[in-house]
Amino acid sequence: MPAWSQRELDQENIMPVNDLASAEPKKSKKVLRKAVDTDFCYVCEWCDCTHQSSSMNEFNHHVGLHRRAYTQHLGPKAELGEEEFIFYCQWRDCHSQIEGKVEDFARHVYYHTFHQYLKFLGRHIQKVDGMEPCGLGSLSRNMIPELPEKLMCRWQDCNMVYDNPYIFYSHVAHHSEEIPKDRRSKGPIVCKWEGCKTVLKSWYKIREHMRSHTQAKVVACPTCGSLFANNTRFIDHLMRQLQTGESLGGSPGV
Ligand SMILES: [Zn+2]
Ligand SMILES: [Zn+2]
Ligand SMILES: [Zn+2]
Ligand SMILES: [Zn+2]
Ligand SMILES: [Zn+2]
Repeated sequence: MPAWSQRELDQENIMPVNDLASAEPKKSKKVLRKAVDTDFCYVCEWCDCTHQSSSMNEFNHHVGLHRRAYTQHLGPKAELGEEEFIFYCQWRDCHSQIEGKVEDFARHVYYHTFHQYLKFLGRHIQKVDGMEPCGLGSLSRNMIPELPEKLMCRWQDCNMVYDNPYIFYSHVAHHSEEIPKDRRSKGPIVCKWEGCKTVLKSWYKIREHMRSHTQAKVVACPTCGSLFANNTRFIDHLMRQLQTGESLGGSPGV
């Protein structure tokens, strides 16, 4: 396994360990919003499991075992991916039925681990920003998007395929590491995603732009489970729920 896939996902909400010391004196909101990966806690919600983990690798492994046990129970053809089945997701409050091969089911189940990770980041941001939880309720908290397509990297001639969204997004982000971060060094940057020739001004812009190709999300609401492509949209979501709550709940005399 390449070294980068062992790391926690390198994206805007994670504090790289070597930035911790230099970040201390500033403590801007942007810095505070970054979660330190040693604080992470992921909770398994498969059937009645209550397993917790602080490592994404271990958590993925654990959930992968549930998924495999379920598929093996359907028979050897299910696990070998020789036939299409209807898989019933056992994640609490998901209720999804995935029609397809075992890889389609695996992709769905691994999205739950990625979603737990994004909700952890959301809870952290909500806390450091001092925001009230969203008022939409928790019935949808484990609902995740449908993923009918394979997770294939189309950066130049890469074509790597993944069944784990967390590792896939980490992989795609890694391509941006090949681009020099110093914006003045090499001039504009051209996107190398298949069929795209978008020109971007900086390394940060290309990171954001690449997420539009992969539909990658960086944060989720810990209460209702909604996914967001950037922190600002998540904060807007919390603000909107707050305003709606106030306008509904405010008494006439105030
Ligand atoms: Zn479990
Ligand atoms: Zn599910
Ligand atoms: Zn790639
Ligand atoms: Zn592009
Ligand atoms: Zn919400």
